Amino acid sequence: MAELCEKLGAMRGRGEMVELVAGFLRGLQPAELEPAVSMILGRAFPRWSQKTLDISWAALYDVIRRLTQVEHERFAKAFDKTGDLGAAAAMVFESSKVRRQAALIERPLGILDVSWTFDGIAEARGPGARERKKRLLEALLGNAVPLEVKYLVKIIVGEMRTGFQEGLMELAVARAFDLPQKLVQRAAMFVGDVADVARVARKRGEEGVAALRPQVLRPIQPMLAQSVDSIREALKIHGGEAAFEHKLDGARVQIHKSDDVVRIFSRRLTDVTESLPEVVRRAHGLQVREAILEGEIIALDKQGKPLPFQYLMQRFRREREIKQMMQELPVGLYLFDIIFLDGVSLVDLPYHERRAKLAEVADGIPLIEQLTTSNVGDAERFLDDALRAGHEGLMAKRLDGHYTPGLRGKLWLKVKPVLEPLDLVIVAAEYGYGRRHEWLSDYYLAARDAETGEFLIVGKTFKGLTDREIVEMTERLKELTVKREGRRVIVTPKIVVEVAYNEVQRSPKYKCGMALRFARVTRVREDKGPEEADTIQRVREIYQGQVKKH
Ligand code: AMP
Repeated sequence: MAELCEKLGAMRGRGEMVELVAGFLRGLQPAELEPAVSMILGRAFPRWSQKTLDISWAALYDVIRRLTQVEHERFAKAFDKTGDLGAAAAMVFESSKVRRQAALIERPLGILDVSWTFDGIAEARGPGARERKKRLLEALLGNAVPLEVKYLVKIIVGEMRTGFQEGLMELAVARAFDLPQKLVQRAAMFVGDVADVARVARKRGEEGVAALRPQVLRPIQPMLAQSVDSIREALKIHGGEAAFEHKLDGARVQIHKSDDVVRIFSRRLTDVTESLPEVVRRAHGLQVREAILEGEIIALDKQGKPLPFQYLMQRFRREREIKQMMQELPVGLYLFDIIFLDGVSLVDLPYHERRAKLAEVADGIPLIEQLTTSNVGDAERFLDDALRAGHEGLMAKRLDGHYTPGLRGKLWLKVKPVLEPLDLVIVAAEYGYGRRHEWLSDYYLAARDAETGEFLIVGKTFKGLTDREIVEMTERLKELTVKREGRRVIVTPKIVVEVAYNEVQRSPKYKCGMALRFARVTRVREDKGPEEADTIQRVREIYQGQVKKH
């Protein structure tokens, strides 16, 4: 498998990659399929699984040092050369005499050995867990050849970067077991991970895969939305009529109930049940035996008005202080979909029927406000209402649309008033990782203070430029460099870029007290000099505009 990953990393052609992986999967034992698929995608466990290895880089590095006796200098050099922790680890393993473990495993490492060890590491809890994790890790790496070390480390730190992604894996599974690609995709969305589909495909063929459905207590990939610019466009795409819903700026929750068990999953399928006791309580009150519901939670102020997104995030951070946070920062739950009810999957029902079912079972939990209309004016007024109430915009949902897990299609469209982009100056940059390790690919963006002339950082991004633009940018920034601090360079403020973003947040991170959320470079403003860049006063105005809205 390590050799396979090494080959994938060196390949460019997607078709070639898919063929190679398909052949590899076909040659595996049934029990190896699920872990192999996960690991090739760089994951220690399938996506829906709540298991985590919980190994810090410090702990992993400690084990590498124990095994190789390498000095820090040498490792740092290897890292500088490769820009990749896995490759650096492999290099030091290659060049040192590894203290072989009292052979736990006498034969070459197999996929299942790795999988079992990962399980053991994930299960280590309580006092002594750290040491136990390290011992298991030491046994694993101590029995691995350098190439295996490379990929084990990549999986552990979560940086596989072979370019072989989920979508290609779906193709490979389809090829390996002679299934239509669509079927594999759909099944993967239902059960939350393509690795499970591979296992079912091997065991029960096409019929088995076709029979896969959402399962209660197993999170499914959420359905996503595309952006449109206007209400009119949304109505046109949806054939003249649509259901508009308020788009709340909160966090998505998937609520699973099976008799008296309730689990809440985040949009990224993480189990967040413990952080949201009041949501759990409401779910227990539902008069259904089994259900999967979807909704949005938002933080509320004392008057019950929605607060911006960043407040809500505090609820997920403070695990120990949930009780107190519950009082200080109550959350409101608003439902918008139902996916599963009493043993039956509802994904193939049209939207309006799901919404009607949702209204039946919601039992006092509010649904997100909705208006079905074909009238542009009415929908625009509804959008104004939403914005005035402090929400983000509207979602337009196609009335006859099915629930399509994991897909960003046209059945759901988001209509958000767009914020105009800002022209900002690059004042510092950092070398990237992996493929980008020789390039200055991460940029600090600053606005000009019209009063003092100082450039104040308001955000940082590595998004938006193409590889070629990054290479050019690197050259230009190197010439402007005044100081190097580790992987970061400070440059004279010369280059102006246009930056899109979703929101200006209050943030202690930068001196100006604000930060752009989801900043991305949309183009390089060759036509502008730093003195023409947007000012910090302008950024403050935008921030205040948002606050007023809320
Ligand atoms: P975005 O994250 O901008 O792609 O927008 C999609 C997200 O909006 C969803 O994942 C939900 O968390 C959120 N959302 C807010 N209101 C709704 C709604 N009425 N229907 C669906 N999703 C909503």
